Amino acid sequence: MALSGIEIFKHLPKTNCKDCGFPTCLAFAMKLAAKQASLEDCPHASEEAKAFLGAASAPPVRKVVIGAGEAACTLGEETVMFRHDKKFVNPCAYAIELADNDPGLDQKIKQIADFKVDRVGEDYGVNLIAVRDASGDGATFTAAVKKVVEGAPSVGIVLASEKPEILQAGLGAADGKRPLVQGATPENIDQLLPAVKDKAVLVVSASNLDTLAELAEKAVGAGVNDLILDPLPANAREAVERFTIIRRLAIKKNFKPFGYPTFMDARHDDPQVEGALATVGTMKYASVIVLSELRAWEMLGLLTGRLNIYTDPQKPMQVDQKVYEIGNVNGDSPLIVTTNFALTYFIVAGEIENSKVATRLAVQDVEGLSVLTAWAAGKFTASKIAEFIKESGVESKINRKEIILPGYVSVLSGALEDKLGGGWKVVVGPREANQIPQFLKARAS
Ligand code: SF4
Repeated sequence: MALSGIEIFKHLPKTNCKDCGFPTCLAFAMKLAAKQASLEDCPHASEEAKAFLGAASAPPVRKVVIGAGEAACTLGEETVMFRHDKKFVNPCAYAIELADNDPGLDQKIKQIADFKVDRVGEDYGVNLIAVRDASGDGATFTAAVKKVVEGAPSVGIVLASEKPEILQAGLGAADGKRPLVQGATPENIDQLLPAVKDKAVLVVSASNLDTLAELAEKAVGAGVNDLILDPLPANAREAVERFTIIRRLAIKKNFKPFGYPTFMDARHDDPQVEGALATVGTMKYASVIVLSELRAWEMLGLLTGRLNIYTDPQKPMQVDQKVYEIGNVNGDSPLIVTTNFALTYFIVAGEIENSKVATRLAVQDVEGLSVLTAWAAGKFTASKIAEFIKESGVESKINRKEIILPGYVSVLSGALEDKLGGGWKVVVGPREANQIPQFLKARAS
């Protein structure tokens, strides 16, 4: 449960020594309550205070790590219901399920391992491969797990079977890889708990939430603390309902048995329904989402949606202010100016690359706002653009003093020419980024 600043203050030394960098203990307590400071910054906090405040400040949803090394995937640590309250912390993981007796297993493992999507300068891919015991044979299951371990070292593993003996065989093949074991039910949990302890993360599954809570308590009682909760939703309505209840009880009521990440099997015969189910899970609190196969169109949508949900709405994504050189630029290459909102930069840079016209892109720091928003906020003005261009030193690298302004702020062209002075010419560019290739090619011809 989150503590107030006053409650935290009661446990601090109250000497106002300022060693933490704040003028008073109360000011420090308020920052701690807002999670903008760490208790470690107070060198005088007693051991009792550290124990109490440390436990109280632990996130209500436990941090759980599936996989090891480059395949490690961190889930949980969430503290809020809504992303406008505070950033969602750890993005959900997408798993592709493969049958252990699939004749095309090697090729599918390679496809999953190689699948990468570039979004705003970062590579994203599939997080987990779920090996499904379709054969009912321990040796076949073990061989499939080994293939995933060797063929997709950057992807984590889910071992999926109802049979404890098959799961145990899979655990042997994934030794040291800290797989996710799916899963424990009221029928098999007693057999599974000793096998997974200290080796794996365990999915506990029950459609009845009371039963699910009992399974989680039983696992913790046996020393298995890294859990994922699967309330077995049969459709989107049940998914939203059950995941919301679990999240709300964990965060608002500090109900410990539900303080874990969650699991959603989104597989469906209709790929579009599957995509919709996975999207619902991404938005509403599913931490691991299982898909039936790798489809690029489905993953593209999910990864982009996840990026939206798990970015901090209070911190615009930004790139550094500088003049980026795209392609083999020379003195005659065009010069475009834009703002440092990451999405703006990557879209404009992408369209310049598409044009195949080497171009200098001057990106001005406007605290991560898009062109129109920055202009409306008075951060992308003629004076500020001129100041940036002069300080950038780009003038010494170009033969023609000409700058292309985004079409949406054409109103600035006259003032910018005045502010730049010295013979600079301002050209109004396209409004939309997708018109940039045509615009650049026309000018180059
Ligand atoms: S360092 Fe600790 S004791 Fe000193 S002012 Fe900060 S909170 Fe108070």
